[in-house]
Amino acid sequence: MEKDIPSFVKHSQHKKYLDAYAEKFELRKYIQLNTLVKSVRLSKHLSSEEKSQMGVSRKFIVEAMRTTMSGHAYVTIHTFDYVVIASGHNSKPYVPEIKGIENFKGKIMNSKCFREPNTDYLKSKKIIVVGSGFSAIDIATQLLENPYLGPQEVEKITIIGRKIGFLANSDDYSSYIKSGKLCLVEGEIENVIDEKSIKFSDGTVHEADTLIFSTGYMFNFPFLDLEKDNFVDFDPKAFRGKFMGPIYKRFVCIRDPDLFFIGLIDDSSLADLCFELHILIIRYLIEGKLKLPSKDKMIQSFLKDIDDLRFVYQKPLDNFKLARETMDISYWREIKEWVNEAHDGDKEKGKRFEEMALKVYRKMVEITSAGNYLSYKKYDFSGMFIEDLKNSVDFI
Ligand SMILES: Cc1cc2nc3c(=O)[nH]c(=O)nc-3n(C[C@H](O)[C@H](O)[C@H](O)COP(=O)(O)OP(=O)(O)OC[C@H]3O[C@@H](n4cnc5c(N)ncnc54)[C@H](O)[C@@H]3O)c2cc1C
Repeated sequence: MEKDIPSFVKHSQHKKYLDAYAEKFELRKYIQLNTLVKSVRLSKHLSSEEKSQMGVSRKFIVEAMRTTMSGHAYVTIHTFDYVVIASGHNSKPYVPEIKGIENFKGKIMNSKCFREPNTDYLKSKKIIVVGSGFSAIDIATQLLENPYLGPQEVEKITIIGRKIGFLANSDDYSSYIKSGKLCLVEGEIENVIDEKSIKFSDGTVHEADTLIFSTGYMFNFPFLDLEKDNFVDFDPKAFRGKFMGPIYKRFVCIRDPDLFFIGLIDDSSLADLCFELHILIIRYLIEGKLKLPSKDKMIQSFLKDIDDLRFVYQKPLDNFKLARETMDISYWREIKEWVNEAHDGDKEKGKRFEEMALKVYRKMVEITSAGNYLSYKKYDFSGMFIEDLKNSVDFI
């Protein structure tokens, strides 16, 4: 990482870190860019015609389309013994159906397309942000008072979301609420009345020039043939597209444990570290240093995972993310212990790391649950980091 980097890094700084990581560990030679994976199939389920066309020799067959610098595209076929899917799950937006949306004549955009707050269709406009997750709050904050660019020229922001009420008590937004520049409504959009007016579920009507949907993302596996190969059950219409299974410990495909999913952990302060542990486990499984439990045991574990989620949220399951505070650290500990079956980490350092992670995490929860999201983005967490843990992974 660069020196003097803020705790809340910009996307450009995160990208620099990833580039530096790839360079330090000489990973570029393993990466084929400008290549779209079109399909990942089980060779045993291919028709004889497909088999003869593709020349199958291993378990998985991957069809990819590569684009050259001159813009030419060509299809390549590869065969593999194992496949790790790490295609991201914050890419295909989930957008709720809204009655009368075709009447709205302003700009409609998705949080995915949000880049800079000072573009024409956002400046001096009335904006409705739909949603109450991090993206909704982040975008509204950037439109009111960007942490890097300062106060912005928006006319009015209205956030409509199922759980947005907690922002009303925050210190960060009280002056904006008092001045009428920020309006918070708990609920959903009921329907669009005309080209500018939108009715909310509490009966109030609000005007907007721009509507920004920050309503989350769906899992998306267009390259898998879920019917023929039956790797997982996934219904994009159920659970807002954010649930699939059966999956063991959130990364092993139970029906075919030579297939893995990386990156499905959501809303966890330790997500990146969990992904690294997943990769280590996959490596040890392939090398035979770790073993998976029986399929029955993995299914039982998956079902318990779902029960635990229902218990924590106390409502019908509509998502498959780790519940914060209650599951975050315990999940990390669980998979770390699994890695430690293959190699011994420094236990004393591991314990200190957990304590540090909990401290950082609690501070983050303290600031964000009070609704002070702008303060969170500016908070300096660096004092909490323990120097000898900074550049070390031997505690794993
Ligand atoms: C607005 C926003 C803010 C976030 N902020 C944070 C944060 O502060 N901290 C945090 O920990 N997490 C944050 N996240 C979550 C973060 O995006 C993920 O944790 C992280 O990017 C997951 O990395 P990944 O490698 O699994 O997926 P991605 O980073 O999404 O990478 C997936 C890659 O797969 C490629 N791909 C997809 N399909 C194909 C295909 N068919 N063929 C070839 N390539 C394909 C994509 O092009 C992409 O390069 C944020 C997400 C969003 C949307």
